[in-house]
Amino acid sequence: MDFLPVFHNVKGKLCLVVGGGEIGKRKAGVLLEAGAKVRVVAPEIDPELAKQQGVESVVARFEAKYLEDVTLIIAATNDRSVNQNVSELAQARGIPVNVVDDPELCSFIMPAILDRSPLMVAFSSGGASPVLTRMMRGKLETIIPQNYSRLAAFAERFRELVKTRVTNPAKRRIFWENALDGVIAEKVLTGDEASAEVMLQKLLESEDNIEHGEVYLVGAGPGDPDLLTFRALRLMQKADVVVYDNLVSKPIVEMTRRDAERIFVGKKRNDHTLQQEEINELLVRLAKEGKRVVRLKGGDPFIFGRGGEEIETLAAEGIPFQVVPGITAASGVASYAGIPLTHRDHAQSCVFVTGHLKDGTMNLDWEQLARPKQTVVVYMGLHGLETLCSELIKHGMPDTTPIALVQQGTTPNQRVITGTLATLPSIAQREKPQAPTLIIIGGVVTLRDKLAWFHPHPAN
Ligand code: SAH
Repeated sequence: MDFLPVFHNVKGKLCLVVGGGEIGKRKAGVLLEAGAKVRVVAPEIDPELAKQQGVESVVARFEAKYLEDVTLIIAATNDRSVNQNVSELAQARGIPVNVVDDPELCSFIMPAILDRSPLMVAFSSGGASPVLTRMMRGKLETIIPQNYSRLAAFAERFRELVKTRVTNPAKRRIFWENALDGVIAEKVLTGDEASAEVMLQKLLESEDNIEHGEVYLVGAGPGDPDLLTFRALRLMQKADVVVYDNLVSKPIVEMTRRDAERIFVGKKRNDHTLQQEEINELLVRLAKEGKRVVRLKGGDPFIFGRGGEEIETLAAEGIPFQVVPGITAASGVASYAGIPLTHRDHAQSCVFVTGHLKDGTMNLDWEQLARPKQTVVVYMGLHGLETLCSELIKHGMPDTTPIALVQQGTTPNQRVITGTLATLPSIAQREKPQAPTLIIIGGVVTLRDKLAWFHPHPAN
């Protein structure tokens, strides 16, 4: 064993980061997460880093005096002589020091971490290969997909061919690393080996033998990170860039690769941070820059998610993509609220509709929705709740029909409000539910009293 693995308590302690760029920012971020106070010293400091709470920024060249009262040091400059100076001064004073990507100058090394506080897993290769340790972490996080055996068989099938085409062993290694971790591998893992083979041949014929960007359109489920699919998680760990909107819960965004760039594209009712067309273009641009892009969407990308439009643009531009289904709000939220969407005694069918108002009116097939023995689930319906209830009654649904509003379903903030078509609008006026809220209408809502009890989340 080359290093002693320990977990260092830096809560409230002053730690020093030398270097104010992208890497310094990331390292300071980790220290802040661990509760440290961070002094950043650099002639130029990233403004975002400088204004973070808990950061004392010192715009200056590094000098020994900045080591005063410091518990731990990370040097992240791109000047080796500065890094060396920091390392020597620190070690002479017995202060633990890490120099990014320079094991020789380190008295301690930073592991790759899997954060499930208070449970924490740290991986290290003793500085030998940070990439390897990060990959190990990713594997543990996603659980290796079942069809990895297929991938191995695929690689074996093309081993000889690749050997004859890419004769330089170092280049060949890079080729395989690339192929086994990119679009080609994804194709194999999803069972489309024919396309994978075409892509591999193309890659062999290309000049640099390196494949380019791709987009994963990933359904992130309704909120609880536990409801992610293995594939979603695996791709989130692979992505260079994450594009997400406000339906994706923070803990889920946190599960993406630690050093991935994160781009928030908003989207609230009537407050579109980026227009849909701009999002489509952004995805294309990032992929064309050679990046692996995860487009994280709440619930399922193909259910009121405009996923279809996003992939249409990608397809038109010839950018490889895959769509990963997610648990849609109806399914996740109903389950966590103790409401089965179908039930022999109450509903033989279930319809999902959007209650999004266009010009203040809701354009729905009311007759169809008012049919008996059916559960109606309304997405984006909160704003039109009153219209919804009154139209359904007008079209023959009994005004005693039970209805539930579930706000922030599956999250620790889940809130359920129930009533009938007649009573709910005034109850909602009093209770003021906030988006995202899902509306469930039908006899199945009465089952909640019996069933919610069994669910991990408190029935409120
Ligand atoms: N593609 C998403 C739906 C996007 S439309 C999916 O498959 O779930 C956005 C609407 O989904 C919200 O207005 C709300 O009605 C519903 N929704 C999404 N997440 C929700 C949650 N956690 N709790 C309640 N409703 C939710």
